[in-house]
Amino acid sequence: MRYEDFYRQSVERPEQFWAEQARRIHWETPPAKILEESTPFRRWFVGGTTNLCHNAVDRHLAERGEQLALVAVSTETGITRELSYRELHREVNTFAAVLAALGVGRGDRVVIYLPNVAEAVFAMLACARIGAIHSVVFGGFAAHNLALRIDDAEPRLLVCADAGMRGGKVIPYKPLVDAALAEAKSPPPQVLIVDRGLDPQMTRVAGRDLDYAELRRAHEGEQVPVAWLESNEPSYLLYTSGTTGKPKGIQRDVGGYAVAMAMSIRCIFDVAPGQVMFSTSDVGWAVGHSYNVYGPLIGGATSLLYEGLPTHPDPGIWWQLCERYGVRTMFSSPTGIRVLKKQDAGWLKKYDLSELKWLFLAGEPLDEPTAHWITEGLGVPVIDNYWQTETGWPAITLMPGLDLKPVKFGSPGLPAPGYRMKVIDETTGGEAAPGQKGVLVFEPPLPPGCLSTVWRDDARYVSSYFSHFREPVYSSLDWAIRDADGYVTILGRTDDVINVAGHRLGTREIEESVSTHPAVAEAAVVGVKDELKGQVPVVFATLKQGVGEAPKQVAQGMQQRVVQQLGALARPARVYVVNALPKTRSGKLLRRSLQALCQQADPGDLSTLDDPGALDEVRRALERGP
Ligand code: ATP
Ligand code: MG
Repeated sequence: MRYEDFYRQSVERPEQFWAEQARRIHWETPPAKILEESTPFRRWFVGGTTNLCHNAVDRHLAERGEQLALVAVSTETGITRELSYRELHREVNTFAAVLAALGVGRGDRVVIYLPNVAEAVFAMLACARIGAIHSVVFGGFAAHNLALRIDDAEPRLLVCADAGMRGGKVIPYKPLVDAALAEAKSPPPQVLIVDRGLDPQMTRVAGRDLDYAELRRAHEGEQVPVAWLESNEPSYLLYTSGTTGKPKGIQRDVGGYAVAMAMSIRCIFDVAPGQVMFSTSDVGWAVGHSYNVYGPLIGGATSLLYEGLPTHPDPGIWWQLCERYGVRTMFSSPTGIRVLKKQDAGWLKKYDLSELKWLFLAGEPLDEPTAHWITEGLGVPVIDNYWQTETGWPAITLMPGLDLKPVKFGSPGLPAPGYRMKVIDETTGGEAAPGQKGVLVFEPPLPPGCLSTVWRDDARYVSSYFSHFREPVYSSLDWAIRDADGYVTILGRTDDVINVAGHRLGTREIEESVSTHPAVAEAAVVGVKDELKGQVPVVFATLKQGVGEAPKQVAQGMQQRVVQQLGALARPARVYVVNALPKTRSGKLLRRSLQALCQQADPGDLSTLDDPGALDEVRRALERGP
């Protein structure tokens, strides 16, 4: 079907459209009603009962029991695990039996604090099987971040590893769990340890800490019946990245999410049963949940999970894996590609990528120079796609699974099915004309798969997303522009908009312009208070390796480009060349911390900062002067 028809049906007759899509999954009881709206809340597939684990695993046994379901490759430990759907079924049942034996039941929360290993997938699916609510916390988060999430989710059980590994270095997890539980105020959960034998120093707390290998042996081969859940019961919680402040506990449903996964894996990602999807995300992020675990498995595909760096043992590792497993669709982030861009482009050509059809990238604006570099290097279409933890699946994308519309670099494309989008001019409150900037909003009802609410905080759900305009529309809190063909470009976050003498600029516009300088690897732009102009743009940039030009000269070159491309108004007042930029653990630029340092203000909650050294570097650069 053509995208235009598919999309039109989804917004003109949503109930009919989604009733049709719902046939992609198994319902134990069919829904009595497709949609029940009470804006800003909504319930999809009311009265239907289903189960994510059944749809992701059991349902495929008859037809594809021996097909690979999960391949977990670790270049850190050198271990590769390949599991068929039958083997995955067995492991998930065993894990579910262990959960049940520990008293975990329907509606109980389980915090999962594991690296990108097969057990993370087993644990998630086992929770889904018995109706427990998982909350995966990215394994790189420090004790304080973990404690905050524990206090919010109040888990009965916490599943963790002894350690993770990064670049050959063992990173103990268990001491962080101990510290987090010491800090947390909620009733202490039991701790189930997946001991990888990486940290011989690991200590155990008697009576609280349990060993998974031991319990696995005791329950191996047990079958655990699937819990049939009403479509709108919670399936999992996932906290947003915390780029703009305290992370929000996004609550997901069961039926709507399953349908969104079944539709998107096929129609957006173009993955059919039996084909291979490789997402480089960590399972701890939204992409990891949807396209390392639920999407490909609900779709009967093979999911490739990777623990390791993109550059280790060499910068060709991702493509080597694509060749080895015949990957059809790959999913990564602009940050990941920019890491490779610092390396020789020859690595992109070293392996046979004849099976690879698409590279999807999401999470941050994909700057045009990077989009060109990777498209030309790989020779496959690169599909930028825009979404949020809240939406659970792409909201703006192209849909090669239907038909491929022209790729326009700089834009993630067109609205995905069910998303009724508008760009709103904040000054008038009316819809912005094509080519005019404004806030990207979605009109209710949000399509299946999007957040039900913020965990135990309906008020925060309403105030965060639905209280910015006269009408009750969902605000994405991102700034955007739509062209005459309907393509949307994201200009940055609404919080980050720079207001120079009454003219408003998205951070993206200046960052994009600065990045056209051949010496620039990555740039962050923030608006800094200025007595005369209100705000002025200030640039922080890292340079590519082996740049001969002096940083001062490069800085001038960047300013000139901005003046030429965007006009004198956008000219960066100051340009600082640094060795690293502050980012969240999920690879997003933390502009608010840069802005705060420039204005001698408190940088706020930095708990999701990846490398604290990057901020010290910025402080020193500010002291030295531009
Ligand atoms: P928090 O909401 O806690 O501040 P966050 O917004 O960084 O954290 P995520 O849900 O992981 O948490 O990120 C979603 C955001 O990432 C989007 O709102 C947008 O700002 C940005 N984003 C994602 N994909 C794209 C893309 N393709 N192009 C531009 N921006 C993107
Ligand atoms: Mg956000």
